[in-house]
Amino acid sequence: MLKDKTALVTGAGRGIGRAIALKLAKLGAKVIVNYSGSKEKAEETVALIQAEGGDAEALRCDVSDYEACGELAKNVLAKYGRLDILVNNAGITKDGLLMGMSEEDYDRVLDTNLKGTFNMMRHFSRSFMKQRSGRIINIASVSGVLGNAGQANYSASKAGVIGLTKSAAREMASRGICVNAIAPGFIDTDMVSAMGEDIRGKLIEKIPLGRVGQAEEIAEAVAFLAGDAAGYITGQVLCVDGGMAI
Ligand code: NAP
Repeated sequence: MLKDKTALVTGAGRGIGRAIALKLAKLGAKVIVNYSGSKEKAEETVALIQAEGGDAEALRCDVSDYEACGELAKNVLAKYGRLDILVNNAGITKDGLLMGMSEEDYDRVLDTNLKGTFNMMRHFSRSFMKQRSGRIINIASVSGVLGNAGQANYSASKAGVIGLTKSAAREMASRGICVNAIAPGFIDTDMVSAMGEDIRGKLIEKIPLGRVGQAEEIAEAVAFLAGDAAGYITGQVLCVDGGMAI
């Protein structure tokens, strides 16, 4: 149970982030539902949580904006006094072969996925260290573990998230803070449904369990890493990918 815990989930208006927010709220956490562009979706996530008797609010912040993340952290800490669980889920893709990849597409993906994760961790780290407890869970990707043709920018950003996770885990362990990453495989969200049926079919052939995953299956892994049962786990990458990274 996560009663009396406060959690912040970035990019929680839709997809995996929404499933994570709903799960943490169901376990009793107060949840801050971060969004960047999807205000209505974020408010829908909040309404779903409240309809179940949970406690949530939506807060806008572009995670790639260092100053804005600082403001968000200041406001959250002023209002709630502490943050117990930080889930860095916000992410984008701008796929294309390396040979033709624009500098802009490279930068935007790195700025959101990797720098966005750094920005949030950086601005909450002092408060985590001071309170001598906390869980940080970063959503990486199987592409960051294995690499993926057509996703040089995305894979680099997610491999970076894994390095960031391991270094922060080492830095923060002495204060009892656990920092882990989850590497999802192909999960049924807007990110994946944008692919054509033929590409989807080829992808499913590469998944030992023979199906795409559901956002709720990532949320279950986050709930485990956020809970008391995972107190001796830090610096790890948990692949939730139907066996893709075997
Ligand atoms: P999605 O459905 O496309 O949702 C992306 C989320 O990220 C949205 O809530 C979006 O919020 C948020 N976001 C994007 N840019 C942002 C920014 N600058 N600041 C704040 N929020 C931002 O994606 P998803 O499939 O749920 O993916 C969630 C995470 O899982 C990502 O990190 C992704 O890389 C990772 N992942 C997904 C899969 C998969 O198969 N789906 C596989 C491996 C890893 P707004 O709409 O408000 O902008």
